[in-house]
Amino acid sequence: MRLVRIFDTTLRDGEQSPGASMNVEEKVQVARQLARLGVDIIEAGFAISSQGDFDAIKKISNEVEGPIIASLARAKEQDIRRAWEALKDAPKKRIHTFHSTSDIHLKYQYKIDRKEAFARSVEMVKLARSLVDDVEFSAMDASRTERSFLAEVVEAVIEAGAGTVNIPDTVGYAIPQEFFELIKYLKNNVRNIKKAVISVHCHNDLGLAVANSLAAVTAGAGQIECTINGIGERAGNCSLEEIVMALRTRADLFGADTKINTKEIMRTSRLITKVTGISVQPNKAIVGANAFAHESGIHQDGLLKEKTTYEIIRPESIGLHSTKLVLGKHSGRHAFRARLKEMGYELTPEEMESAFDKFKRLADQKKEIFEEDIEALVSEEVARSTPQLYKLAGLSISTGLNRPHIATVKLLMGTKTRQKKTEGDGPVDAAYKAIAHLTGTKSTLQKFEVKSITGGMDAMGEVMVIVEENGRTVRGYGADTDIIVASAKAYLNALNKLAVKRVKGEEMPRL
Ligand code: MN
Repeated sequence: MRLVRIFDTTLRDGEQSPGASMNVEEKVQVARQLARLGVDIIEAGFAISSQGDFDAIKKISNEVEGPIIASLARAKEQDIRRAWEALKDAPKKRIHTFHSTSDIHLKYQYKIDRKEAFARSVEMVKLARSLVDDVEFSAMDASRTERSFLAEVVEAVIEAGAGTVNIPDTVGYAIPQEFFELIKYLKNNVRNIKKAVISVHCHNDLGLAVANSLAAVTAGAGQIECTINGIGERAGNCSLEEIVMALRTRADLFGADTKINTKEIMRTSRLITKVTGISVQPNKAIVGANAFAHESGIHQDGLLKEKTTYEIIRPESIGLHSTKLVLGKHSGRHAFRARLKEMGYELTPEEMESAFDKFKRLADQKKEIFEEDIEALVSEEVARSTPQLYKLAGLSISTGLNRPHIATVKLLMGTKTRQKKTEGDGPVDAAYKAIAHLTGTKSTLQKFEVKSITGGMDAMGEVMVIVEENGRTVRGYGADTDIIVASAKAYLNALNKLAVKRVKGEEMPRL
């Protein structure tokens, strides 16, 4: 069985999805989960693009064990040095540099000729190799690049020391058969191709990212760049869970597999939804809510007789239906900590204390506590890692049928406590109006979503909001057994994020 490497770019390309920006703590949490999932490479960010990206790459390099940690860098000296600076503490590190090779990009965007693009690519791969052993080069817009020129560039960067050569379908233009032939062409026409791993990075503009990536594997590609839930620029990237499960399910055909621990897929998918605020469509392959729901009577009949009649993937193999009762009211601090550790969470002592307090309060309200409840508690701790300019100090609601809905909200703002009583169209509206008044926010609420975490009347509610201010969107998260409280927490989490100003550098090109 040939091993295909999984290069996860959820934290870099995935984060380029509109509204998906994550803070440093959230990125570290995601990186830890990606390590548990067993990805080979984590692209942790684009070091020079912002201080937040730089800090996240550095923290992940220091704290996350297992995968190779990579940073993106344009084929520019300052980018490559900045990437190295962020990565230097990682036990296994990779600089991923890129340059466009298509005439469309060179003529209109870079305003340079092929010769210049060729020279810059080679020179920057050499520079990167002088800093680290593991260098990847991407020929941006490769699928629209003239093939013989692409082959020349690939050969030269391998000669210069690139161990991985990535062939991106940057604009999602390729068709599977054509993409297969492109990879074959490179295999047949690049003299030193055996010295490097061929990688592909496909976008989903025509819904073909996974199909193109599979075609590339058939042609000999040894690395797939992908994201959890397929998030990413525009229509997104090749979805990790789909490509991994396609290779695993049809190993008979591909003769290739990955090192992914598929049982961690569902949990990773849920975490990404939580930290990015981007929900998965119900009919999404593998991780959608309906991916294993059989409605047709004939199908159900078959399934009852023999699962394999209509089920090509066992839900358990991706970690579905693993919901289990984990803790109850009488569980102590030790059991709680042990359980968190087993689930892969590492909290600071203060976060642990705070999470344990919440757990005890939750256990009083809810008799059975599931893994998902604990995930929500930990997510709240991570949400709280945003500097807390505004903190919910009190909330009371008066509501009912044919009655006015009145909220009284008390906020701790720095050292001062302020309170406001407001009427609204409903209890959430009233609470939000009071919060908007107290904080003086000029933002607008773009999305409000409530979900129940587990079943049952006593289930916790999870609220996700997206708030926009001056073209900047942030996401807020809150969980509580009281959905009005969860709603207020989510709104405040978003407003706290908006309060942390982000310094934006020059516009970065996107791979
Ligand atoms: Mn991309």
